[in-house]
Amino acid sequence: MLKENLALVEKEIAAACKRAGRRREDVTLIAVSKTKPVCELKEAYDLGVRVFGENKVQELADKYEALPKDIRWHMIGHLQRNKVKYIIDKVELIHSVDSVRLAETIEKEAAKRDITVNILIEVNVAGEESKFGIAPKELPAFVEEVAKFPHIRVQGLMTIAPFVENSEDNRPVFESLRKLSVDIKDKKVDNVIMRVLSMGMTNDYSVAVEEGATMVRVGTGIFGVRDYGRV
Ligand SMILES: *Cc1c(COP(=O)(O)O)cnc(C)c1O
Repeated sequence: MLKENLALVEKEIAAACKRAGRRREDVTLIAVSKTKPVCELKEAYDLGVRVFGENKVQELADKYEALPKDIRWHMIGHLQRNKVKYIIDKVELIHSVDSVRLAETIEKEAAKRDITVNILIEVNVAGEESKFGIAPKELPAFVEEVAKFPHIRVQGLMTIAPFVENSEDNRPVFESLRKLSVDIKDKKVDNVIMRVLSMGMTNDYSVAVEEGATMVRVGTGIFGVRDYGRV
């Protein structure tokens, strides 16, 4: 099942790239493995998957220990400040920075270890009350604040689009995130690179790729539905 799922997602991403005149290698597929047991991640690993996304610190740290070291781990979920220290040296990218205080903690822990940490800023494009993320109008000031931290590199932006029946309904959300990233890039802030747009999940990643996503986060589409009762 996993093999077929992966092949289908790959095919869809390639098709979306083609429609948009983009290169397939400019889009990274993140296999979102939250709640899934290590054996299923191993199965995906054996099929060639090397980039995994998790949303809980403990789960990410446990899976990190249990699986091969050439896996690139992405922290995609809300991150509490007191847990930064458990994953800071295990992840390739933190997608979910949404407060200056969290950035401060990342800076402090990174400085202690003498490492530079790559982050994305989570933006609440659609203004949903239930979601974390910086409001678009507060983004420019927030970027300037975070750019001051020498052990942090702002690589781009991330958004979690609303749940919609028709993925086309999220096209304006993805378009807005891309525009925000272009506006910031034009300001040429030190330490801020803006080469990553993390947007699109199982229900809407094709539209996200058409709108410029460089990372798509696909869980259900690869591993099947999640059983939250088991974890
Ligand atoms: C769970 C999750 C995903 C994957 O969701 P699917 O709909 O299963 O593809 C993507 N991004 C974030 C932040 C998530 O928490």
